[in-house]
Amino acid sequence: MKKTIKNYKIKKNKVIIRCDFNVPIKNGVIEDDTRIKAALKTIKYARRKGAKIILLSHLGKVKTIEDKEKLTLRPVAIRLSQLLGKEVEFVPHCTGEEVEKAIDNMKPKSIIMLENTRFMDLDGKKESSNDKQLGQYWASLADLFVNDAFGTVHREHASNVGISSSVDSCIGFLIESELLKLKSLDNPDGLYVVVMGGAKISDKLSLIENLLKKADKILIGGAMANTFFKAQGYNVGKSLYEESYVEYCQNLLNEHPDKLVLPIDVNNGLEYNADTVRRTSPTNLIRANEMALDIGPETVELFKKILNNAEVIVMNGPLGVFEFLKFNNGTREIVKHLSKSRAKVIIGGGDSASAVNKFSDSKLFYHVSTGGGAALTYLEGKSLPGIEVINEK
Ligand code: AMP
Repeated sequence: MKKTIKNYKIKKNKVIIRCDFNVPIKNGVIEDDTRIKAALKTIKYARRKGAKIILLSHLGKVKTIEDKEKLTLRPVAIRLSQLLGKEVEFVPHCTGEEVEKAIDNMKPKSIIMLENTRFMDLDGKKESSNDKQLGQYWASLADLFVNDAFGTVHREHASNVGISSSVDSCIGFLIESELLKLKSLDNPDGLYVVVMGGAKISDKLSLIENLLKKADKILIGGAMANTFFKAQGYNVGKSLYEESYVEYCQNLLNEHPDKLVLPIDVNNGLEYNADTVRRTSPTNLIRANEMALDIGPETVELFKKILNNAEVIVMNGPLGVFEFLKFNNGTREIVKHLSKSRAKVIIGGGDSASAVNKFSDSKLFYHVSTGGGAALTYLEGKSLPGIEVINEK
């Protein structure tokens, strides 16, 4: 078990909390503050304990000097201050004299937020390539480092792995809860069913292979199902599929005939657009001028039946082009069904999380991961460098 913030007496100490404040901002306005809210528990706890709190986060990808203006964390500091009902001092730099002075002047329970850590990427990608000196510099600013940015634990950056390597480190409440929920998938009780969709097989090879070892059933939808249809010997018309993975899918189907469940019907369009004519057909009767853009109604029923017996369910990836009204039926119906399920339902992956927000309410699920890439890396059975480096209890 990794050390958590609760394992430390942090009274009056300087504590860096690495948050994931990578929120969508348009013209200075925050469009979704879910991630800021998710950080509150750890920040409030550290404050109650009397810490001097220094907040660090990245925001977007900083490639040019011009990016700095739209990728400043200032609006986040303002929003956080409103949510906490406390002053959050914003320092418009993440290194240098001004930062050090601001920290020297801190009183217990005060909070400062430094500027976007990725501004350091303009100086030879120092943040994203985990520049040793940068990590050591940030570590030198504090007595304790609390990593609570689940969204970046699969990456090796200066503001997570770099700092952790040079100062006492632990995880915050958000990472603790994400790990606890994801770990419940390691040895699940009862039937474990995975719902997998999305665009490409090639993006999900390690995921499929790792889940095949653990899950009892994998229900496949989305464009990735089309490559399996090809492997079954069907014509897929103009559907998106990956020719170079047809043989791979054939092998999977031969090795796991009972585990892999494919759609039996699909909703086809003539073009890839929202207004195209829709026609439902069995999967073996897709016409040459059609493309499969969603799972069909019989498949929805088949998937629901299997999901009804599950104890643990993971959903990753939409089952069709859920951005188009005419082709969102499969994803919508399955998300709604899962929201009512008595099983532990875990949603891991960015697009599935947005499908949940679009068609249901994340509160109705056992867990909707805040970090798509990080949750996926965990489900792929790979290690998370941002967590590995934290001290054990
Ligand atoms: P991924 O990032 O791999 O999870 O893929 C998500 C994307 O796959 C979404 O934008 C969906 O619109 C797209 N998608 C899902 N099903 C299909 C399909 N049958 N044909 C084309 N795109 C699809």
